[in-house]
Amino acid sequence: MAYDWLKGIEEHYDIVVIGSGLGGLTSANVLAKCGHKVLLLEHHYQLGGLATWFTRKGGHIFDISLHGFPIGMIKSIRKYWSQDIAQSIVQLKGVRFINPQFSMDTTFDREDFTRQLVEKFKVPAETVERFFTDLRGMNFYDNNPETTGQMFERYFPGRSDVQRLLMEPIAYANGSTLADPAITFGIVFSNFMSKGVYTFQGGSDVLIRKMTTELKRNGVEIRKHVNVEKILTATESGTKQVVGVVANGRTIRCRAVLSNANIKNTVLRLAGEENFTAQFVAEAKAVRVNSSSCQVYLGIRKGETLPHIGDLVFTSDEPTFSSEKLVDLHTTSRTFSMYYPDTRPGLDRYTVVVSINARYADWNNLSPAGYAEEKQRLIDESITALERYIPDVRSKIDWQEAATPRTIEYYTRHWAGTSFGTKFEGLKVSMDLPSQLRGLYHAGSVGIIMSGWLGTINYGVIVSNQIDKFLVAQKRAPEATPPIV
Ligand SMILES: Cc1cc2nc3c(=O)[nH]c(=O)nc-3n(C[C@H](O)[C@H](O)[C@H](O)COP(=O)(O)OP(=O)(O)OC[C@H]3O[C@@H](n4cnc5c(N)ncnc54)[C@H](O)[C@@H]3O)c2cc1C
Repeated sequence: MAYDWLKGIEEHYDIVVIGSGLGGLTSANVLAKCGHKVLLLEHHYQLGGLATWFTRKGGHIFDISLHGFPIGMIKSIRKYWSQDIAQSIVQLKGVRFINPQFSMDTTFDREDFTRQLVEKFKVPAETVERFFTDLRGMNFYDNNPETTGQMFERYFPGRSDVQRLLMEPIAYANGSTLADPAITFGIVFSNFMSKGVYTFQGGSDVLIRKMTTELKRNGVEIRKHVNVEKILTATESGTKQVVGVVANGRTIRCRAVLSNANIKNTVLRLAGEENFTAQFVAEAKAVRVNSSSCQVYLGIRKGETLPHIGDLVFTSDEPTFSSEKLVDLHTTSRTFSMYYPDTRPGLDRYTVVVSINARYADWNNLSPAGYAEEKQRLIDESITALERYIPDVRSKIDWQEAATPRTIEYYTRHWAGTSFGTKFEGLKVSMDLPSQLRGLYHAGSVGIIMSGWLGTINYGVIVSNQIDKFLVAQKRAPEATPPIV
């Protein structure tokens, strides 16, 4: 008989959190600290969502999305998790660009970018200053229709090299394009420019284990291997509201649900169209998901070493930056994340993770043989590209493996295997959810600005504060709970 992963759970919870990405984990922690009874359900055998890792024969540990985040993570982690976790966040100083238009080493902060834009790219200092200041002043509520591409042309007309420097790393990090609203670039880029790029020393495994300890200490009931199939609703006093979920075939009752699944999965698959107005369903269907990713994982044999070629190396053979070319099946644009022994002190190991932006449809339409062939091509091309910087690297690799948008879909269930949530319009659908269906909330990569490690954690906190208010009101007088706005 199959093991019952829900064995021993209670009949009723204040809140069920669907999914353990950084958004789901953070919400669960905040709500438990507010005194609510929280059940966290994750379909995978591991917590973390995309902030995860895997191990392989030969002592290799590979991180999926531990490449770099802004300094704001220190404050968010300290405030909503613990000082102990926050103190392992360290700066990555070696960011490198190598492409036909320029080669550059940078600490990826405002001071260094200003210096290089002025000295190397010969952009007038006042233009650079104005650009950075205007970007900092960008506001979500401005409703500015300008795209990132249009904004670049306004500050740096005809400067495809400058535009590439500004756009390429952000497109790698969140799948945004030149056609997305300028605010999606402005907020994310400004966050990085504040003080550079940071990582978690110890690896995603240590981070997620520490978070799990914290969740348990705060009383969160955590269950893995549990797939939520359906969000249950009922009409009470004329208002439709969430009353539970069906998970692994079993009904669990609750006052509210927070979904960390993709917003389209949440509305169209988990809750179902019947629970929303036709207008809202149309809006949810119209939400575009972001692009996806491929990765190549290269394990370096125990005892071998690699020279320091930078921490994050953005490479491309494309003559200029193009959002289309970046996701092309045969793109030459790759980011090498180099993991030296100081990533996991004490292990004395090296690994390389190559990240490549990708389109789900290109990979989903392949035959089984074609899929295997394309994965092998990805591995071969990545090693050949790395040999330009480390000529003898091939002989040091004793594990090689590729992941594709299909891998992401398999492990996270995200709509069209997206790695970066949705385009901007997804944010409105996510925020409007509780006004459509009482007790249903969403937190997770959405709208580009609420994406990435920092964005999803902060969005998780914002939504948890709304849920806390809802639950407090419910517990006081369930029948008098006001509609959520
Ligand atoms: C290759 C790659 C590189 C990246 N690099 C960076 C980076 O360097 N810096 C950065 O800041 N960000 C990076 N990101 C993005 C970042 O990892 C994500 O934005 C963030 O981790 C997403 O968190 P989330 O809360 O949206 O949830 P996710 O991580 O998307 O997790 C959602 C969880 O919900 C679970 N779930 C879904 N449906 C169900 C269901 N029905 N029942 C139970 N469980 C369910 C999934 O299994 C998953 O665990 C990268 C992403 C990828 C793919």
